[in-house]
Amino acid sequence: MTVSTETGINTLENYVGGKWIEADGAELHDVINPANGETVARVPYSTASHLDEAVRSAREALPAWRGVSTIARARMLFTLREKLEARKDEIARQVVTEMGKTLPDATAEVGRMIEMVEAATAIPTTMQGKVLEDVARGVDAETIRQPVGVCGIIAPFNFPAMVPFWFLPFAIACGNTVVLKPSEQVPMTQQMVFGIIDELGLPEGVVNLVNGSREVVEGMLDHPDIDAISFVGSAPVARLVYERSAQTGKRVQALGGAKNHMVICPDAVVEPTVNGLIGSGFGAAGQRCMAGSVIVTVGSAHDHVIPALVEASKKLQVGDGLEEGTDVGPVISCDARDRINGWIDQAVRDGAEVLLDGRNPEGADPEGSYVGPTILDEVKKNDPIVSEEVFGPVLAVVNVDTLEEAIETVNASPFGNGVSIFTESASAVRKFRHDVEVGMVGVNIGVAAPVAFFPFSGWKASFLGDLHAHGLDGVEFFTRKKTITSRYFSGGHESGSYFVER
Ligand code: NAD
Repeated sequence: MTVSTETGINTLENYVGGKWIEADGAELHDVINPANGETVARVPYSTASHLDEAVRSAREALPAWRGVSTIARARMLFTLREKLEARKDEIARQVVTEMGKTLPDATAEVGRMIEMVEAATAIPTTMQGKVLEDVARGVDAETIRQPVGVCGIIAPFNFPAMVPFWFLPFAIACGNTVVLKPSEQVPMTQQMVFGIIDELGLPEGVVNLVNGSREVVEGMLDHPDIDAISFVGSAPVARLVYERSAQTGKRVQALGGAKNHMVICPDAVVEPTVNGLIGSGFGAAGQRCMAGSVIVTVGSAHDHVIPALVEASKKLQVGDGLEEGTDVGPVISCDARDRINGWIDQAVRDGAEVLLDGRNPEGADPEGSYVGPTILDEVKKNDPIVSEEVFGPVLAVVNVDTLEEAIETVNASPFGNGVSIFTESASAVRKFRHDVEVGMVGVNIGVAAPVAFFPFSGWKASFLGDLHAHGLDGVEFFTRKKTITSRYFSGGHESGSYFVER
């Protein structure tokens, strides 16, 4: 990292071949703390040639790294886990400084990041193949798993610590090498994390970090020496990534945008339901891929729950995520703030009733990018705010008469990332989980957050690919299967004796 003597602001570097290197000649862009508008670092927008250097280093490292025993690779991850745990608070503060979420939320994110490393340490078990003896007389068949090769990871802004780790620990545990491009809006967290990885003494080139934007992404998609791409971001970019990666024959998993519904049944228990709605809709200022953004009340649930929701939401404190007592931090940028405010304006023009208005929240730093909790009632099922991603602290309330109608509303969405139902009725849950066309379902849980040992991903426009992130799907994604069928002609079945000198 180079530090400007005039401003004291760090310019971030790339990590290539086990060394930190300046991205010579790259354009520099400011990284902004969204809580106060201050520049906290400068990030280089690397070029295709910077990327090429990283890919070359990852390719060269591959043969030796896949030759390291699985147990030794797992042990390195145990060490990484300990080092991340020891610096958890520091990483969490870094997340807040560039992304804006509250410190407890960032600490939970770093906890989930560490859980991904824990799940990847199980690789000596999870990477095992399968054997079947006697598929024909004296013939055995077995499938073994081998690494895919050089794996590219492209991350979004909203989980600077966790999302890259949905992939990185699993990829290297399986014997692959990695080139990671963090979001240019939040590049500092992975800079810190790679500093920690550097202490592990991994062979040079096993993990590489290339800062940048679109040019690096496009370079990764087209690069003939990258074998697999794991992408997380908005739906249009996920589609672009999926299509362009396929053109160069890469394996790809592209997790896209979301529009998540929360269905409230008349028997929902009010207080925990309200807490769940608030955590889901307003946590991380609504900038989680699993954030609930449409509340679908069934019949009388509306009058039981919505007034209590509005009252509780009014008490939420908007401010800097590092300050104690803050419930809702800023959104990522002034552009994002203006876009979200535009969505609220549009909903009002479409006839929504504003029960809580977060445009220009009181007391928030005018240099920061803040939108307060917003609740819009009387929203119609076909309004754009119900079908399109807002990605801010805005809850739209749609009222329906039956559970069947609620399920139809959920399934009408082009997205299918997450959904929740709040009810005590097991039969309603049974019908709901059976019928919804969504990848992740919460029952009395506002955010069905990723659990490292389980696969995680949406359906429909929220996901393009086959194998989901982490869990056993992660191991499937980062390995190629090879099937070997074998027999031998001497000894065994035919002669009944081995290595007998005749
Ligand atoms: P984004 O799509 O703008 O950016 C994601 C990555 O793609 C970044 O690294 C960025 O540099 C790159 N990128 C952006 N535009 C590009 C282009 N035109 N060509 C090539 N590369 C490009 O997403 P974001 O705003 O950083 O993140 C928020 C989005 O991510 C939301 O839509 C959210 O729902 C989604 N998300 C989804 C999941 C999931 O699990 N499905 C998880 C987290 C975030």
